[in-house]
Amino acid sequence: MLKDPFDWTDEAARLRADAGLVRTLRPRPVDDALLDLASNDYLGLTRRPEVTAAAGEAADRWGAGATGSRLVTGTTALHAELEAELARFCGFEAALVFSSGYAANLAALTALSTHGSLIVSDAANHASIVDGCRLARAETAVVPHADPEAVRKTLDAHPGRRSLVVTDSVFSVDGDAAPLTALAAACRAHGAALVVDDAHGLGVLGDGGRGALHAAGLAGAVDVLATMTLSKSLGSQGGAVLGPARVIAHLVNAARTFIFDTGLAPAAAGAALASLRLIEREPELADRARAVAATLHERLTDAGLTAARPDAAVVSVRAPSAESAVRWAADCRAAGLAVGCFRPPSVPDGISRLRLTARADLTERQLDEAIAVILGAAPGR
Ligand code: PMP
Repeated sequence: MLKDPFDWTDEAARLRADAGLVRTLRPRPVDDALLDLASNDYLGLTRRPEVTAAAGEAADRWGAGATGSRLVTGTTALHAELEAELARFCGFEAALVFSSGYAANLAALTALSTHGSLIVSDAANHASIVDGCRLARAETAVVPHADPEAVRKTLDAHPGRRSLVVTDSVFSVDGDAAPLTALAAACRAHGAALVVDDAHGLGVLGDGGRGALHAAGLAGAVDVLATMTLSKSLGSQGGAVLGPARVIAHLVNAARTFIFDTGLAPAAAGAALASLRLIEREPELADRARAVAATLHERLTDAGLTAARPDAAVVSVRAPSAESAVRWAADCRAAGLAVGCFRPPSVPDGISRLRLTARADLTERQLDEAIAVILGAAPGR
């Protein structure tokens, strides 16, 4: 009898189960009563009536799907409007919208590097950046986390090489911000480009949520690109690359995840555009998300927990062990609170954490409730 070609997955499943690392999907009920500190809906816009109505109107007007790739039939006036407004809001010359932030990172890294060029990547960068480096034909040098001196030394070791430095603006596990000013200085000393993934900065950092690059005075610079997702603060789906118009034109012509991918669904483009306009009308949303994060941090650390001071809307709380982190998150859930839980191998430093996301739309009462549940369920209490 012929061997089943997928038999080996049973062994992989057994090893995963032995290591306590089985992941399962848990469909979220529509009337979920859980208080949410686990999603990335930082500004609470995904259910704002203006945003969901814009998604419906866009689908009615343009259809449920984009119908083709962006260069064939998949670009609507809505895509062009979203790109123009996103670029203007964040302070860049031009923008290009993708079907996800993942695709946007792959595009920037693969289309802007070549055989013989160099990518310098922070060790804690998001998986989509790691995959972009793997797909790119360049050599990748992984440098220690948030270490501009290491970036400088790496660039020094490759004089004259076409180089690109890539970093998250806000790191998704610990919520700490990248040293963008020092990284830009290191890049400029070598004529290297700086690519910053602002997935967790857009809507939260910078004047009225214009992002980490705007906050650092780097938006619109000739040697800087931003990548982002439309799925966190903008409450929709999709991604974007922002930068000089000539670089964006290059991506239109050379980025495979742009050229060979169906355009972003009109509903997602419409929702993202509505969110962008809302953020511009309500600049206090960004302040509120940061204030909620600061309150979470202050009250949890005052009560004896260990958490780094948040630079944006992600608060990461240490757990004594992987098992206690899993139990802690499960006890929170049983008490009505959804929180994120990170443990090895997702955290290479071996420290397990609860990951809390501050949301601008949390009321004081909900915040009190969340803090009480987290403290009540904390290991050793
Ligand atoms: N970059 C970072 C830092 C992210 O956290 C994410 C989403 N988890 C992405 C990129 C990917 O974005 P998307 O979900 O839109 O593909």
